[in-house]
Amino acid sequence: MQNTATPTHCPYCALQCGMNLTPVPDGTVEVSERTDFPVNRGALCGKGRTAPAVLASSVRLTSPLVRSGGELVPASWDEALDRIAAGLGRTRAEHGPDAVGVFGGGGLTNEKAYTLGKFARVALGTSQIDYNGRFCMSSAAAAGIKAFGLDRGLPFPLEDIPKSGCVILVGSNLAETMPPSLRFFHELRENGGTLIVIDPRRTKTAEQADLHLAPRPGTDLALALGLLHLVIAEGRVDEEYVQERTVGWEDARAAAMAHWPEYVERITGVSVPQLRETVRLFCEPESAMVLTARGPEQQSKGTDTVGAWINLCLATGRAGRPLSGYGCLTGQGNGQGGREHGQKADQLPGYRKLDDPAARRHVAEVWGVDPDSLPGPGRSAYELLDALGTDIKSLLLMASNPVVSAPRAAHIEERIRSLDFLAVCDVVLSETAALADVVLPVTQWAEETGTTTNLEGRVLLRRRAITPPENIRSDLEVLHELAARLGVEKGFPTDPEEVFEELRRASAGGPADYSGITYRRLVEEDGVFWPCPGGVGGAGAVDSVEPGDPAAAPAPAPGNPAGLTPGTPGTPGTTAGGPEAPADAAANPGAPADAAANPATPEDAAGGPVAQRSAAGRPTVTGDTADGAHPGTPRLFLDRFATPDGRARFVAVSHRAVAEEPDEEYPVLLTTGRVVAQYQSGAQTRRVAELNAAAPGPFVELHPRLAARLGAVEGDPVAVVSRRGRAVAPARITNAIRPDTVFMPFHWPGEGRANTLTNPALDPTSRMPEFKACAVRLEAVRG
Ligand code: SF4
Repeated sequence: MQNTATPTHCPYCALQCGMNLTPVPDGTVEVSERTDFPVNRGALCGKGRTAPAVLASSVRLTSPLVRSGGELVPASWDEALDRIAAGLGRTRAEHGPDAVGVFGGGGLTNEKAYTLGKFARVALGTSQIDYNGRFCMSSAAAAGIKAFGLDRGLPFPLEDIPKSGCVILVGSNLAETMPPSLRFFHELRENGGTLIVIDPRRTKTAEQADLHLAPRPGTDLALALGLLHLVIAEGRVDEEYVQERTVGWEDARAAAMAHWPEYVERITGVSVPQLRETVRLFCEPESAMVLTARGPEQQSKGTDTVGAWINLCLATGRAGRPLSGYGCLTGQGNGQGGREHGQKADQLPGYRKLDDPAARRHVAEVWGVDPDSLPGPGRSAYELLDALGTDIKSLLLMASNPVVSAPRAAHIEERIRSLDFLAVCDVVLSETAALADVVLPVTQWAEETGTTTNLEGRVLLRRRAITPPENIRSDLEVLHELAARLGVEKGFPTDPEEVFEELRRASAGGPADYSGITYRRLVEEDGVFWPCPGGVGGAGAVDSVEPGDPAAAPAPAPGNPAGLTPGTPGTPGTTAGGPEAPADAAANPGAPADAAANPATPEDAAGGPVAQRSAAGRPTVTGDTADGAHPGTPRLFLDRFATPDGRARFVAVSHRAVAEEPDEEYPVLLTTGRVVAQYQSGAQTRRVAELNAAAPGPFVELHPRLAARLGAVEGDPVAVVSRRGRAVAPARITNAIRPDTVFMPFHWPGEGRANTLTNPALDPTSRMPEFKACAVRLEAVRG
């Protein structure tokens, strides 16, 4: 066992905070600060600090389990793997490959997400694969692709935030979801910038804002349109920018002009003076940003809602300018990378579209298969789960717990129970794993090496710091063994670096091009921003990185304490001579800013399919770093967008109501979200004593007026009833929420499961369910 510190990253959210892990002789693992990593500079939230507790947890799975006589009982690996191969194989033989489903997670490393997608399409031959990231930020991804031709959570590093003039945070409670990121917003305000928070609740994040707008849940689209209306009416449109860098303005303008401020006030509950003040604060500084999170995205009109916020950025000339623009704060640890490499229903590695013939040919060549053998796009996450037990008879599930996290969860639980066969890979017996026919215990973050891509598009190396317990295997080993049992002996390596090398080739030339990234570079440069094209297998030799290897520790250059390289994020203010500096190469030194002028392929020159283009526009760039490797791309769109003509697209959108408006029977809106001490479905964090003590269970947050009407006092059990079911949790009474809205966190199963109530109405583009607004009634629960 190594006893030196290994620099690595947190297993949880998309911030991917850096931390050092040191094994202790008593078998535990110590977390210490890793101040060199620029995202968190040593700070960790309680979840990250206590993450090692799950490694040594007494409830950790220590053996494969198989169902026998109705019970899950320990079994050998061979028996468990044989059963899975037989279960999936039988379904495939009897009902065809699409009767087998695969469900992944945004917590899987890039290597695992890539291999899972390949396993589904090559070893199983099924089109039915999607993942829980569909429930996370798929609306922002769809809107980003529509507007910019490319989706990368933030198109700039977090370090740009403090130097901006104004940030509008829409539906993000980052004080609870990713607390270390708050420092960027504190610095923003210290530097004289303004923070505006939009949230129906006065959250801990909203408390730190200069201005808090509390719209009715599900009305963010109308709010953005009202702001754009005022931008136009007050003559604040950046006409030159709109003319030169966008298309579609006239239609978007007309749609916004139909949303008078007074009309928007009636819809949203945000007053006209507040709308005017927001426009003033956003438009007056030289630079400004809009950052969205789950609030506007988890709606049945999430894509249009995000599109409306992007319109605001485009009309005011913000997108693709230094210290400005639109970004999405992704949620899960590898929410970004998890959607780029093939576990999404409609995607191939490199963020290529599955129905694009050229993409299919490229990836099929890397995989050594016939492109025609690759299935087409499958169902989206909710639709896949909803088809369990009917069209889909067997399911392999990794890194997800839909019994708690899916909308209309009681129905989804029933669908899962109706499967012919369910296999789950997990570290603990989650609520979904407890329903499985076979459960495989897999390695955890600190016990394996792999890459993740954080919310900035920064590809990172999570390093193995400790040896896994006996009888535990990695997800990659599981897929290798299952593929072999299904008759595919080759093509499923178990070494993460070997998988990454293949991923580099598969992603080469795609929108999310990782081909210039190597494990060695990730260590030396503290992460590399994609797109990073490069000679695969060329520049940047790939060396193995061992746990605790002192040579593996990042070595900041003298006088460069953050360890920045020419391609990593300094700030435009420091590296380019200030915000007035030219908005392209100077702000992004070494980045391929001249992509428009240097089309790499005939398709590029012809403005060919966006899915086949690197965002940077050229697949190979040399001479940017000392060894000739591409430096990565911290900032996107500074000279052109990733559309065929380089211009961003306005979308003409109009307000529409939530899918389920309150009525006499269900008069209140429910919105759901997170608390600081729990993560996602809570499968891991609910098993950490310190976190459980801080957040032991669900609650119903409601306004005193609603509580009085109900006759409830603080702590009284309250039943929340929707058309899909009933959940009961103690009342938490506060003025920090609108009187027409109640809030429940969704981390818990059982009686207080918030997702029993939520509405699976889907966004037509992203297929995102409407987690953020549904109609409910409240009932007092007596004695
Ligand atoms: Fe950082 Fe997120 Fe981990 Fe907390 S959960 S330590 S914010 S990466």
